[in-house]
Amino acid sequence: MKTFFLAIRASSISGSVRSSMGSYDDKEETHASEYYKLMDHSKKNRLIAWNTDMMIRLLKEVVRSRGKQPRESQLKRVSLKALHFDDTLPINEVSQVLELPNREDVVYIDGEVEISDNAALEMREFVKDVANMYNSNPFHNFEHASHVAMSVGKLLSRIVAPSAKQKKEMRLSRQDSRSVLSLYDYSYGITSDPLTQFACFFSALIHDCDHFGVSNQRLIEEQHELVDMFGERSVAEQHSIDMAWQHLMTEKFDNFRNLVMPDMDTAKRFRQLVVNGVMATDIMDKGLKEARNKRWAITFADTVGDTLHEDETEVRNRKATIVIDHIIQASDVSHTMQHWHVYRKWNERLFLEMVKAHEEGRSAKHPVEFWYKGEIGFFDFYIIPLAKKLKECKVFGVSSAEYLDYAEKNRDEWVKRGEESVAKMMSDLDFRKKKISELDCSNRTPRTSLRKQDLGDLVSPNKQNKVLPELPECA
Ligand SMILES: [Zn+2]
Repeated sequence: MKTFFLAIRASSISGSVRSSMGSYDDKEETHASEYYKLMDHSKKNRLIAWNTDMMIRLLKEVVRSRGKQPRESQLKRVSLKALHFDDTLPINEVSQVLELPNREDVVYIDGEVEISDNAALEMREFVKDVANMYNSNPFHNFEHASHVAMSVGKLLSRIVAPSAKQKKEMRLSRQDSRSVLSLYDYSYGITSDPLTQFACFFSALIHDCDHFGVSNQRLIEEQHELVDMFGERSVAEQHSIDMAWQHLMTEKFDNFRNLVMPDMDTAKRFRQLVVNGVMATDIMDKGLKEARNKRWAITFADTVGDTLHEDETEVRNRKATIVIDHIIQASDVSHTMQHWHVYRKWNERLFLEMVKAHEEGRSAKHPVEFWYKGEIGFFDFYIIPLAKKLKECKVFGVSSAEYLDYAEKNRDEWVKRGEESVAKMMSDLDFRKKKISELDCSNRTPRTSLRKQDLGDLVSPNKQNKVLPELPECA
């Protein structure tokens, strides 16, 4: 049943923010780039190229794994209308247990497969459009999405074959000493299903598109227009799914889309994986959090006994669902589980994003008031438990130990150097503000007129005057 707000969403949301023609042009970068250390144009282009290459590589595996199925040209195309999924909200589509196909016996096509030039060009165009859907936030921008996608790719590649000891443990838990465990069993079917891997990467790439640089809580307080469309839960995540998905459904991506979703069953499965993948990044929603904890408790906490009476496929699928959630969640904060310098770079960007929100009157407190202690709490109550769970999933081999090790080291380092780091971030920001102010004054270009001229129609009315930070007036 289509509700009133769903009807509004289907007809207006993707177009309302920027363009009703479905084109996402490069947004003009301004002084905000220097002020908040945003990426430059060439970096953005490099990231578009890298993400496209990764997607092509993963999609080729999807095609190879279809093996002896009917050729693409023999399939009856799925109607575009059926693919919109606009009669339901993404939050209501989240599945507690994803169904991964049993693909153990599938025969892959030998060697590398080629995908058409048209499909490859469309993929590049799609990634470019996604890049332009991201706002120039200091943290939640296309570079963050690329960093998350890179981490997803890395974790997927690190799902390793089990050691002899792990195989023995798993056989014992199945009470069947004769059963031969394959990589399929060990990774709960993830490594044997390229579509799942492609969907995880795709989800990472789109997961924060059009992020507004403030929390869902803030969007609700502001009675943002998206709240009317998506309700008061996971507002930003649902919007990102909707925006990217509806864009993928436009005619200019026919070749690309038909390769990913040659039939309705595959389309439904891909959609489900993307919804679950992106929704996994909302770690604040109470309902989603409770469901995740419950799933973990019945699956990994003392599993023997609990799972014996359950259908084996159901147990394996539930484990796969948890592993996919963790791959994406860990990737979303992977900077906290990498080298100190990587952690500090992204930590500063998040700090600047919150400073920006405060300066725009969208956050009551200045982050300088809570940043040091807040980070310690974030490590203790979210990052370190998450890194430990990665280890307990037992599919990532030594990589999970590496993630936990970096998380603990960064936490200890932050305890020692965090206060000094906050002071440095503030003094660096003041320095940049001063520099830009001097430049503006020497050029005698009033910032207010620049803002109006340069931005023009590039931003929607409710975003105007919120794109740029308030800069000091020239003396
Ligand atoms: Zn994110």
